[in-house]
Amino acid sequence: MKFKLKNDKFRKSRGGYSRLLEISCSSCNTKLFKYQKDGPGIIKRLYVDRIYLEVSGSTIKCENCKRLVGKLTVYEKENRPAYAIQSGAIKKKIVKL
Ligand SMILES: [Zn+2]
Repeated sequence: MKFKLKNDKFRKSRGGYSRLLEISCSSCNTKLFKYQKDGPGIIKRLYVDRIYLEVSGSTIKCENCKRLVGKLTVYEKENRPAYAIQSGAIKKKIVKL
């Protein structure tokens, strides 16, 4: 699979540096989706426009074990929909491009 990372104002406002992550459920290790992380620091929320999967609804759950992973919110500074990550619910691995 070939991924092209998004390069837009959100990436630029975080210094222009991005990585692709594989996000998994920390309970059962099921792979959930790939995610573009922009800028340094830890992941606090999953921006909807950075999730490489069709997501909708007010929550994200692990399809396998049904653990609650994220709750939909809006990051007000950017008026940008994002899922707030439930504490300890995900594991992440950097995907080499
Ligand atoms: Zn799970």
